[in-house]
Amino acid sequence: MLRLTSRVPGVLGALRRYSSHAAPTTKMFINGEFVESKTTEWIDLHNPATNEVVTRVPKCTQDEMQSAVDAAVAAFPSWSETSIMTRQQIMFRYQHLIKENLSEIAKSITLEQGKTLVDAEGDVMRGLQVVEHTCNITSLQLGETLPSIAKDMDTYTMRVPLGVCAGITPFNFPAMIPLWMFPVAAVCGNTYVIKPSERDPGACMMLVEMAKQAGLPAGVVNVIHGQHDAVNFICDSPAIKAISFVGSDQAGIYIHERGSKNGKRVQANMGAKNHGVIMPDANKENTLNQLCGAAFGAAGQRCMALTTAVFVGESKEWIPDLVERAKNLKVNAGDQPGADLGPLISPASKTRVCDLVQSGVDEGATMLLDGRDIKVPGYEQGNFVGPTLLSDVKTDMKCYKEEIFGPVLLVITVDTMDEAINLINENMYGNGTAIFTTNGATARQYTERIDVGQIGVNVPIPVPLPMFSFTGSRGSFRGDTNFYGKQGIQFYTQLKTVTQLWKAEDVSHTKAAVAMPVMK
Ligand code: NAD
Repeated sequence: MLRLTSRVPGVLGALRRYSSHAAPTTKMFINGEFVESKTTEWIDLHNPATNEVVTRVPKCTQDEMQSAVDAAVAAFPSWSETSIMTRQQIMFRYQHLIKENLSEIAKSITLEQGKTLVDAEGDVMRGLQVVEHTCNITSLQLGETLPSIAKDMDTYTMRVPLGVCAGITPFNFPAMIPLWMFPVAAVCGNTYVIKPSERDPGACMMLVEMAKQAGLPAGVVNVIHGQHDAVNFICDSPAIKAISFVGSDQAGIYIHERGSKNGKRVQANMGAKNHGVIMPDANKENTLNQLCGAAFGAAGQRCMALTTAVFVGESKEWIPDLVERAKNLKVNAGDQPGADLGPLISPASKTRVCDLVQSGVDEGATMLLDGRDIKVPGYEQGNFVGPTLLSDVKTDMKCYKEEIFGPVLLVITVDTMDEAINLINENMYGNGTAIFTTNGATARQYTERIDVGQIGVNVPIPVPLPMFSFTGSRGSFRGDTNFYGKQGIQFYTQLKTVTQLWKAEDVSHTKAAVAMPVMK
């Protein structure tokens, strides 16, 4: 029997063991078992704070990936026929297990991804909330009924699973984003193959281990690893009916096109450039703190990070105070007490961020705070960049046009809210935006006129809770149906419509059952 209070024992040790390789390996998860890959190609995964190798991630062979799909195909008939209340019970147990193991998962995230422990716990928590919401499947998967549409005739719809679905995830939320995917798919009756980011798959491996402990049958969720070949395999596999992707534009556009061409349903959440608009009537203290947290938290490696501050009118006088606050943030390894932001994911990422900052300077922006040469004692090999602020940024600069994905805040000043709205609506992305104001009418007008999918009013990172959906728009999204919430259920199900005729004259009368019916 499952002990809900038990922790997943030594999960890192269970998932990786020292083998003939120089570093522990990350396994696949196929048909309910952790399996060592037989590949000859491995990707070294480094701790971003030290650049020491933590594990080696396989580029799975074609046969291994096929066996994951085969397991999902084999599991589908019985899983899709498992009652919804049974699936719901598994999700109840699952959310409990995740909660119990939250800090262990967070430690794995900090080790592989670099973010601070408290931020890593938030990563798990936001995914956990999606799992908690799946416990509501008994309401979420309801169809519709129109009785007596004609004489003795009723029409009703059923939401039924698609079959085998697949997910491809980015490095920046190693727990939350896998949890946007396979629990929602599985609770609807689908089976799943997930390819977590090759840069930090550890949290996903822990999460599938817990799903198994919660009672998810073998084959319902499978994990493969790799890069382009794994992505192409998923896009081309005839058995896979739908693909969920979260990551960069380049990969998202490619996967959306290739998957769609193969007749699959595809949802792709991609890059962003999120603007925070600061009105002169805003609460100064709160606004500056929120800007700092949303721009530099997670070292800016959030698709909903506020990357551009648009100061309207006199609010620009607060810019020096913003710089002072940014200076006070503590950059350190994610597991060190008091760290506000950790390292970037890789040396290449650090180089890219620094080059984009330099391009801004070269194109005429003013450097207000330069975090590029930061040294973190004890972690000299880490990929650290400190909070960086550039002002006098223009919309034709490279640093504005490209997603930086680092702790860099661009500062733009305008005279009116109209100018701010026009500037933001001309940007290609539509993931998120925030306005800081104490005037309800200003906020209302902003939310009406801004063409961005997720808007915060005095909320810097307005990622919706899972009773709503993640509704990034324009260049930040491809597909028709968004992640999680009602939209997530729609993505992972299709409608069947039944029109039935039961003639009144055919009614038969049987003996009444008097015992209380028990549904299972
Ligand atoms: P990425 O695109 O490099 O990787 C995402 C996944 O795609 C990985 O599993 C990777 O193996 C695969 N991949 C990478 N390059 C590929 C290619 N050329 N062809 C096919 N597959 C490829 O993204 P990342 O660097 O891991 O994540 C950061 C990006 O993700 C940022 O652009 C960020 O804005 C975006 N993101 C978006 C959201 C959102 O909800 N909109 C959320 C998180 C992250």
